[in-house]
Amino acid sequence: MQKHPLLVATLLFLAQAAVAQTPADRQKVETLLRQMTIDEKIGQMTQVTLGVVSTPQDGVLDPAALTKAIIEYKVGSILNVTNHALTAEQWRTVQTRIQDEAKKSRLKIPVIYGLDGIHGQTYTLEATLFPQNIAMAAARNPGLVAGAAKVTAKELRASGVRWNFAPVLDCGRQPLWSRFPETYGEDVYIGRTMGVTAIRAYEEDGLKNPTAVASCMKHYLAYSDSRTGKDRTPIYLPEIEMREYYLPQFRAAVKAGASTLMVNSAEINGTPVHADKYLLTDVLRKELGFQGVIVTDWEDIIRLHTRHNVAPTPRAAVVMAINAGIDMSMVPSDFSFFVLLREAVQKGEVPLSRIDDAVRRILTLKAKLGLFDNPYPERAAAANFGRPEYQQLALQAAHEAMTLLKNDDDLLPLHPGAHILVAGPAARSISALNGCWSYTWQGKEEQWYPTGSKTIYDALKDRFGADNVRTTAEAGFISPANYDTTILKAAAGKADVIVLCLGENAYAESPGTIGDLALPDEQKALARAAASTGKPMIYVLTEGRPRLITDIAPLAKGILMTYWSGRKSAEAISDILSGAYNPDGRLPFSYPCSMGEMVLYDRKPTEDIREIFNSDMTMDGYRPLFPFGWGLSYTRFEYSALHVSAPSFSGAGRLTVSITVKNSGRRDGKHTVELYTRQHYASITPNMRRLRAFKKIFLKAGESQSVSFTLDRNDLAFVNAQLKTVTEPGDFDVYVGNLKTGFSYQ
Ligand code: BGC
Repeated sequence: MQKHPLLVATLLFLAQAAVAQTPADRQKVETLLRQMTIDEKIGQMTQVTLGVVSTPQDGVLDPAALTKAIIEYKVGSILNVTNHALTAEQWRTVQTRIQDEAKKSRLKIPVIYGLDGIHGQTYTLEATLFPQNIAMAAARNPGLVAGAAKVTAKELRASGVRWNFAPVLDCGRQPLWSRFPETYGEDVYIGRTMGVTAIRAYEEDGLKNPTAVASCMKHYLAYSDSRTGKDRTPIYLPEIEMREYYLPQFRAAVKAGASTLMVNSAEINGTPVHADKYLLTDVLRKELGFQGVIVTDWEDIIRLHTRHNVAPTPRAAVVMAINAGIDMSMVPSDFSFFVLLREAVQKGEVPLSRIDDAVRRILTLKAKLGLFDNPYPERAAAANFGRPEYQQLALQAAHEAMTLLKNDDDLLPLHPGAHILVAGPAARSISALNGCWSYTWQGKEEQWYPTGSKTIYDALKDRFGADNVRTTAEAGFISPANYDTTILKAAAGKADVIVLCLGENAYAESPGTIGDLALPDEQKALARAAASTGKPMIYVLTEGRPRLITDIAPLAKGILMTYWSGRKSAEAISDILSGAYNPDGRLPFSYPCSMGEMVLYDRKPTEDIREIFNSDMTMDGYRPLFPFGWGLSYTRFEYSALHVSAPSFSGAGRLTVSITVKNSGRRDGKHTVELYTRQHYASITPNMRRLRAFKKIFLKAGESQSVSFTLDRNDLAFVNAQLKTVTEPGDFDVYVGNLKTGFSYQ
């Protein structure tokens, strides 16, 4: 058969892109390694922050400081911003000047620049911000994750940056944690699926292509599981749990080809992960087969000495970390790492072979990214910034993320002529719709958001008309008027309905630490004041994590969880409240009802049981305010005909599970069908439920569709007492919607 020449060329290109390293790149790396001095090698392992090479004015490079970093200390990598986002053009200038300086170095090794494009390119003004991962998980649509990652890659690359410190693969099983919004929620399967999807989307075009960036899976490992919920504090984790809930996402990400990895800043069972040779070398390198670059998180090597107190001297900290398997140190504010590692190598405390291993990986990454061919911002990349279709995608993602938790008496959607009072701290806040990593690290400073960003109040006015929408709120989350119950009550008189916008303003990392998951009292007081007017009320929650609202939930007829859904949040909220969009998000976590009820959906049997007296018991141990997977629609989906293709399957066989879903309501809508399994008996107490598959479908009113899923033994596996991932023969329940059937695996 005569093959089409274009097809052949495309296949060849794709094959090359998929290969980690071309022979020419390999040769380039090896030649350089042979030529490099120890100092040049250690410089490659050193990453400093932009502030080190800038004057105190924002983003203005200081030529002398740049020369010091790149020529004197031979720094191989730079990250971050000084104070806030720059324009794409400014970024390209910064990158060009950095690479110009690198060209003056003896071996002309380009610098690799890294930034946190967590939900879009954080640090470029006007970049498209998408829903945070927690919201993307609610959307249950991997296509959106892929689309958002591709736009992020393009906007990073248009800014001259080729390394993205994303995605976060930490499993969100501790809702107090201030980085919960960066996670894909409590479920391993969702986290794995979305994480792998993002990584592929960042990298699959081939890293030399101006539409791709190197991804960075983070933060290895179990960073999210801090015992107190406070950021960067100790984790106590049995290995069986670590392997069941936290490692699978990284295993899958390595297989998907993630180029780099960032390490958890905290400690597990008393060993800081940056000093943990078992996790970094034995598990990550040997067991998972990760070949890419391991970078530390912020200052985390010196902190082995200054905070964790496992290294008696700063040099001992460096020795520990590098010998444990770290390749690059995000130092990032000085050159101490360079000096200390040089001393350690001279004293024979770190073998040269370890240095060569690290530098080989770093140079290979640079080669894969095409930095040796052209380190400068590409003209083709610049044209990919800020295209109108990105806004459409951001809107679709926000639509699909938002989760309708309550809708008593079908209060929603509101009728077009409704008189609405919009109140609460989030009513006229932009930062509360976007959250962390939004033009600044904390995301709070609204002056950096694009002009034209809408608040909930703006978007409701656009939809319902300025005459119909009033507000008591003032701009900004913390404005005192936003908490004034007297003003709120007085204004309610003319309204048909109150839309009370509550929740959290933006925060990131440790500054987002809280001592109580409860929604602050002053916000609850607003809810009570609004309820006292007798007007029907809807809560719009802008939250990065589930703040407890159990006592005020009954006061509202409607509750819409919006998470932090990015640039188009406000528009999506008004579309949902007005019925222009039919909501379809589903909770990616169990929304707790109180601090003592933090049971997760994949609980063990004894967590399900509530003993009353002797054998008198109820089976309601899992009692969240809203369960994992919860999410209402303006239409109704009915399930029937749940079938398994055979009563049993064995070995490497497969089983098909099918179900018919009917939209029996009066509106078209999207819907995620979820499949859970439960093993009856196993050598380790089986989970009550595990999500094994999901599919999002669209059904017109009255339409039906058959949905099928294929399961194999890997979908039924768990980690046993010997720490092996196994599938044990036995009987299984399978649940889809409200239906249940069974099968056995032999
Ligand atoms: C965060 C990382 C981030 C790094 C660089 C750290 O504080 O923990 O997630 O990539 O800063 O900005």
